[in-house]
Amino acid sequence: MATQNQPVLLVTGASRGIGAAVALKAAAAGWAVLINYLSNEARAQALAEQIGQAGGTASLIQGDTGTEEGIAAIFSAIDREFGRLDGLVNNAGVVDQTARVDEMSRERLERMFAINVIGKIRCASEAVKRMSTRHGGKGGVIVNISSMAAVLGSPGQYVDYAAAKASIDTFTVGLSREVAGEGIRVNAVRPGIIDTDIHASGGLPDRARDLAPTVPMQRAGTAEEVAEAVLYLLSPQASYVTGAILNVSGGR
Ligand code: NAP
Repeated sequence: MATQNQPVLLVTGASRGIGAAVALKAAAAGWAVLINYLSNEARAQALAEQIGQAGGTASLIQGDTGTEEGIAAIFSAIDREFGRLDGLVNNAGVVDQTARVDEMSRERLERMFAINVIGKIRCASEAVKRMSTRHGGKGGVIVNISSMAAVLGSPGQYVDYAAAKASIDTFTVGLSREVAGEGIRVNAVRPGIIDTDIHASGGLPDRARDLAPTVPMQRAGTAEEVAEAVLYLLSPQASYVTGAILNVSGGR
């Protein structure tokens, strides 16, 4: 149960990987956390229990951020269970099987942009409606999870994903300026090669290990290392930081 003054954070795609690491650290830092997931209820439930056992506050909500129904379910849960929203970590994201651009179907591109771009913009829009002083809110903070792919382009693997992440970088800058006078800070984190399940979902389960030698720091990063950067951007220590894009990539 959230206490009355506890700030509330929505983390999309928080059942595993970077989102789960953010949810854990945010709960330890005093946020009440809404854990969103797509299909992995057991892992989301286990994470909520872990947070509860550590004395934190967490609830779960299933919802596909690539659809309007999913987004409506997520924000209804925020309104019903917490009655306020102070932070959004726009994390849910997917890759597809590695392919060249001349092999990509329209269906693939529609899914890629529905989840990785439109879903993030729609979640931010719903968050702004609840946080902006223009709408009677008390302000808040948004952290978008981009990727170094936005800069590197991911040729031969996921150029569609890279283009979607580049959209998130531009969206971060534009939204940050739009709502800077309404009490909302908006920033992004660009992870590099991070050791999570996402690589297996693209058909390359060893990608993090295989690419480690190409990273100046000679290793993949961890979800926890990305979460530390997100927690900084969520925190009052970042009170004058907005429109920033922080690379967490070991120099790659
Ligand atoms: P991951 O391990 O594959 O986890 C993805 C999470 O997103 C899961 O919780 C999954 O839920 C959820 N999800 C997927 N599609 C969703 C949807 N349509 N609606 C709601 N939730 C959805 O991924 P990750 O590596 O932690 O990546 C998290 C973010 O970091 C993504 O935006 C990704 O693009 C970005 N990123 C990752 C890396 C990397 O190397 N890992 C690098 C740069 C950027 P279920 O468990 O229920 O399926």
